[in-house]
This record gives sequence, C-alpha cells and structure tokens, in this order.
Amino acid sequence: MKGLVDKPSYIIELLEGGVTLEDVIDGHICEQALDEKSAFVVGDLGALMRQHVCWQSAVPWMQPYYPVKCNSSPAVIEVLASLGLGFICANKTEASLVLEHGVPPENIILSGVCKQLAHIKHAAKNNIQHLVCESEAELSKISRLHPGAKLLLQLTTEAHAAETSMAFGFSLKSCRHLLEAAKELGVQVVGVTFHIPSSCQDLQLAYTHALSDAHCVFDMGVDLGFNMNILDIGGGFTGSEGQLKQVEAAVRPLLDAYFPPLSGVQVLAQPGSFYVASAFSLAVNVVGKKVMNRHWDSLTQGVNNEDAEFLYYMNEGVYGPFSCKLLGNCIPAPSVHKHVLCAEEGVYPSSLWGPSLDQLDQVVERCLLPELSVGDWLCFSNMGVCGLEEFSCLSSSPQLPVYYTVSTCDWYKMQGAGVALDSAMKNFSMVRYSV
Ligand SMILES: *Cc1c(COP(=O)(O)O)cnc(C)c1O
Repeated sequence: MKGLVDKPSYIIELLEGGVTLEDVIDGHICEQALDEKSAFVVGDLGALMRQHVCWQSAVPWMQPYYPVKCNSSPAVIEVLASLGLGFICANKTEASLVLEHGVPPENIILSGVCKQLAHIKHAAKNNIQHLVCESEAELSKISRLHPGAKLLLQLTTEAHAAETSMAFGFSLKSCRHLLEAAKELGVQVVGVTFHIPSSCQDLQLAYTHALSDAHCVFDMGVDLGFNMNILDIGGGFTGSEGQLKQVEAAVRPLLDAYFPPLSGVQVLAQPGSFYVASAFSLAVNVVGKKVMNRHWDSLTQGVNNEDAEFLYYMNEGVYGPFSCKLLGNCIPAPSVHKHVLCAEEGVYPSSLWGPSLDQLDQVVERCLLPELSVGDWLCFSNMGVCGLEEFSCLSSSPQLPVYYTVSTCDWYKMQGAGVALDSAMKNFSMVRYSV
C-alpha cells in the first residue's frame, strides 16, 4: 500500500527578524534544562544553500555530486536534491534513500571499490548506470550483473593512498589491461574518478599527477573505442571559500591543457564536507568534573587556581556523535554556554571526555575554558560530517533531537533557487520561531 505509509515528518524552525542560530541554541538549552538535559543537534539549512552559492560562483563549470556517506539526514538530501546536485552512493541503502527523495537515477553514481553483488543488482534494477570500478574482479562482477553499466575507473593517487595507508584504485600501469578487459567483456567505460583528500600538503603536485594520469587513461580509452566523457576529481574541499579557490587555481590550468571545454568532457567533483560541515552544531551537557593541581593558599586563605587543570565529562562522546574522533579527526574546542559568565574569569587547561569512562573516549585533549560547573552546556560547531545516523543509533540517548532551522532571508533565497516546501520538501513543515 505504497503512499499510505506514514512518512516521517520534520519541522523546520523559520527564524524571523533578528533571531540568530545562537538564540535558537540558547532556547533549546533552556528547554532541555527543564527536561532531561540530553544533547541535541541544530542544523542550519541555509548554510547548505550558502555553500552551494559559493560553489557555483567559484567553480560553475564543475558539477557537484554529494557523497551521501558524509551526512545522510533527510533534510540534507532534500535540500541538496532540490538544488540540483548529483549524489555519490556507496551502497544500496544510500542509493535507495536518494531514489526515495526523487533523485533521478542518472544523477546517481554508485561508488565503493568492493561492491556487494546485491548492491550491483540493485543499481541495475533501478537504472543507476554510473558505477565506479577499480579492478578486474569488480569488472567481472559488474559485467555479469549489470552489463549496461557505464564505468568510471577509480584511479589511485599518492595523496589518497598516503591518507588511508591503503592503495585504492588502479595505477596507470595496470590501466591498459583493465580497459582491454572491459572491452572484451563488452562493458562501457566512460571516464575516470580519483580522490585527493583535504589533508594533502601539495595540492598543485597532487592534481598535476592525477590529471596527467587521467588524461593518459582517456587517451587509451578513446584508442580502444570508448566514449570517454566524464572526469570526476573527487572530494577534498574543506568548506572554506579560500581553500576552494586554491583547488580551483591548481586545477583550472591543468584542465585547460588536458581536458579543454571543446573536448566535451563533463567535469564532476564530490564535495561532501564542503556542503555539510558548517551546517550542524551539537550542544552537550557537562555531567561530571574533576580538578587537578588546585591548592589551598594559606596566605590568601583561598583556593589557588593558578596551576589548576580540569577534566570534564560530557553526556556524549566518541561512541556517539563524536565518532569521527575515532577516525583520527581532531575536534575543535567548543564554545561555552554558561548560566553566568563573568568577563574577568580566567581560563584553564581543560580536557573533555565522553561519558563511558573509557580511555578512548577523550573528545578534546586540551583546550582553554573558563571553569565550568556540572550542568553547563558546550556547543560544538562544524559537526555536519559526523553522519546523523551516528547521532541517533550509537549515542547514549536513543535518538538525539535534531532541530532544523533556516533564517527567513535564506529561506526566500532557497525558494528562488528551487527549494519548495510543497513539492521537494513535502515531509517538512515550517514553524515560526521568534523570541
Ligand atoms: C568521503 C569521500 C568524499 C567526500 O569527502 P570530503 O570530506 O568532501 O573530502 C569524496 N570521495 C570519496 C572517495 C570519499 O571517500
């Protein structure tokens, strides 16, 4: 009985007048203070659009494909789909999610270098034609289960291999062999994909290698009779406009040389962090505290805080929304939401821990904070890349509340850009939020 099943619905708070994101966070902190003091997430949907505007003004010639693994919350998918982005799906679950949001299969690429058979079959059944492939083993699976696929060959890059300490993709050496195997099996190859992570130190060098390699693969492909027309330069965009311009400056002249507009090659990228990182903030509550090195000063008859250090325990940690810490990411220091914050208060070396009392559950190793009390709130910004499923299924509370917001001004602009409540965002409803 499709269509009668209740879809989940989401509420978006429309911020009117001068209401800011901080006001919203403060408001929810007050609500939570009376309730269970559970951690919560605030998503600013306007940030997604602002990032899109930034992308389009800096690199309008590069079509963005959003990697769903970065954050698969329904609001993110809906907004990005309405803005016309394509999607990179690593598996069947992600592909189904995106299809359910009405994204046409031709705007989806099935990535992942070792795909399960069921995921390839699912792509074939749903007309998802673009698949990433990196080896002969993958090629033979795809030729059996999805003979009509159009392949993007995953080219390895030194920068990606260095980051993951694993060799992803195929090297230029094995390229002709892979292309010939595809030819023999009758599978189409249409392009090349590679990934240079944002941690890469020398962007210019990395893109020079990757694009000249990609150019070789294109030549070989054309030689063998393939219609090579898609070049995907992957992710690695932090979200800052400056870094996007750096990548642009590194890539643009190389593209002009190797893949000029007249060649008809469509250039794609996979900005994940770029779109979502800044859109989500997480508020957590301080549930425990330990003081080290605080002495009683007999001279002043008071506590001497000079060498004091504080350990704080929060109600969420690495086994919840801070899971990206376990992957080696650094979590920047939070801002403090305190009942009373006096201006002349000192700051102290502090470390922030999750609630598990586990050695690994250290979220921030060291930062400087004013002295906090149990019950105070900390607010972490730039939390958009820790997937929202992680926000809900691993955290100590069964489901972290997520409050979506958008400012009136951003909402008008989004409507101008094609995001509409009645069609695209039909699972959403708006409430006005004013103070
Ligand atoms: C995760 C991922 C991305 C997107 O990540 P960014 O954080 O935007 O760099 C792109 N491509 C691949 C292959 C990935 O694994």
